[in-house]
Order: sequence, then C-alpha cells, then structure tokens
Amino acid sequence: MSKIAFIGLGNMGGGMAANQAKAGHQVMAFDLSADALKRAEAAGCTPVASVAEAVAGADVVITMLPAGPHVMSVYSEQVLPNAPKSALLLDCSTIDVDTARKVATLATEAGFTFADAPVSGGTAAADAGTLAFMVGCDEGVFAKVEAALEPMSRITIRAGDHGAGQAAKICNNMLLGISMIGTCEAIALAEKLGLDPERFFEIASKSSGQCWSVSNYYPWPGPVPTAPSNRNYEGGFATAMMLKDLKLAQDAAAKAGASTPLAAQAEALYALFNNLGNGQKDFSAMLQMLRGKQG
Ligand code: NAD
Repeated sequence: MSKIAFIGLGNMGGGMAANQAKAGHQVMAFDLSADALKRAEAAGCTPVASVAEAVAGADVVITMLPAGPHVMSVYSEQVLPNAPKSALLLDCSTIDVDTARKVATLATEAGFTFADAPVSGGTAAADAGTLAFMVGCDEGVFAKVEAALEPMSRITIRAGDHGAGQAAKICNNMLLGISMIGTCEAIALAEKLGLDPERFFEIASKSSGQCWSVSNYYPWPGPVPTAPSNRNYEGGFATAMMLKDLKLAQDAAAKAGASTPLAAQAEALYALFNNLGNGQKDFSAMLQMLRGKQG
C-alpha cells in the first residue's frame, strides 16, 4: 500500500482518486470544493484541509487540475516545499507544453522525480479506471510511473522526455477536434442529399471515411448507443474542454512555427459554438449547429 496525495477531485480526478483507494492505497485527497471532498470521502479517500497536509509523507503525488496556471502555482507554492523528496510527482492535467517543462525543471532542480501524464478518455474512463496515459519523463523512471498509474489506466505509453506527454495529448485532441467536424459536415450533407444518416454510418464506418468520431462517437443518435448523441449531448467531452485543447494546440503551433490551418478553423467553429451557449454540451453537438439547428 502506498500513501497517495491526490489534488483536484473534479469530474476526472474524483473517479481517478476513487480507483486508487479501491486498489488499497491510502489516498489523502484535497480540492478547493467542499462537495468534491465529500464525494472523495464517500469513495474511500481521506479528505484533508490543504495541499501541504495531503503531500506530507506521500509516496506519490497526483494532480488533476484545470489548466497550466493552477498546476504551476500548486507545485511551486505548495507541493515542492512540502512533499518528501522521495515522492513521485505526476501531473495528469492537460496543460501547455511550456508550463509542463517549467514545472518539470523546478521539480527536478528541487530533487524530485516528475512526469507529465495527461489522459485520453473522459469521465466514464476515469470512473472505470480505463484511461490512456501519455507520459513525459526520463526513460529510467517510466516503470515506476506506469506502476503508480496502473489502478487508473487501460494503457500507459511513454511519449518521450518532460513535456512530450502534453505534446502527444494536444496533437491527439487537435486531430479529434478536426475529425469530429469532418464527421458532422458529412452527416449534415448526407441529410441534405436525402441519405439517411444511419445508413451513412453503416457505409462510412466500413469505408475510407472511417475514424474514431464515426465508429465510436457518431454524432447522430442511434448507430453508436454509448455516444452522447443518444443523451441529448449531455455528459461526454464538453465543448469548452475541446475548445481549451484546440487553443493549446494553436498556441503551441504558433510558438513552434507549425502550419495547422484546419485546426485554426476547428478552433474558430468551437469558439462560436461555445459562445452560443453550448460550452457544457458534448463536443459532438457541433452537428446541430452545422445542420442549422444551433445546438
Ligand atoms: P474539473 O473542473 O471538473 O476539476 C478540476 C478540479 O480542480 C475542481 O474540482 C477544482 O475545484 C480543483 N482545483 C482547482 N484549483 C485547485 C487548487 N489550487 N487546489 C486544489 N484543487 C483545485 O475538471 P476535469 O474535467 O476534472 O478536468 C481536469 C483536467 O483533466 C483538465 O486539465 C482537463 O483538460 C483534463 N481532462 C478532462 C477530460 C474530461 O473529459 N473532463 C478528459 C481528459 C482530460
């Protein structure tokens, strides 16, 4: 049994912390939200009143926070000054590559082992312990990182050195944002041409248009029963989150000098859809705007 400090018990972190507790670890849980702390306690974690209290004596520190500034301040002001140097530090939040590398440098200079370990898979995978982790860390510590993530994971892949996990996450979600819009446009055109979108699914999912957005997340209700399109686009992966990831990708592309014109269009479309009041709807609800239904 390890002593795990878990910081950030939101939609994702709540389920992830619960799975560490289910695996028999002692989970010292902290969040700014009292409701999140109550849910964590009900799931077998020990709620504490501060980050400092959570990380005291920890073997592993896991953070699942909204964005880069939260991660930087929690590590620089609270985790690094209070955790034992032997603790393995794992940031599973989705943040920009530069901040991930800065936090890694601060942690390494302070004598810690750190990895960026963002995830693919939404809240259902967080609850089920079936997330895919993409890790940026020194090669020599990867086995230790993989073992610590095991109760929350379906697969863990080392992407490269510090920051590479975030780079992989940003590129993957950029591709997803683009492919979802392509899928929605194809369905909207099919409908206008008098082709049944369910019949189009049968064809596209077995033809060269096949992709994850078609086969696993079809935005028209019916063909993929688990897709949020069957639940009025409730739950799933929020439009606001997709927009956040596309912004991260565009910022990274601008800094790196990469050309990403389709992702720029995808970001503009998701920004519009978000501003129309759809930020909490699943990102596949974009179909409704492209059908002229607003969402
Ligand atoms: P969330 O907003 O539900 O949870 C974040 C939690 O962090 C909140 O409970 C908040 O109170 C807490 N928090 C903020 N600042 C804090 C601080 N200083 N100390 C302690 N707690 C603090 O967000 P989420 O959906 O759980 O996402 C978390 C991260 O995972 C994000 O970076 C997101 O991009 C990424 N992610 C989310 C999904 C998803 O489907 N929701 C999927 C993959 C990755």
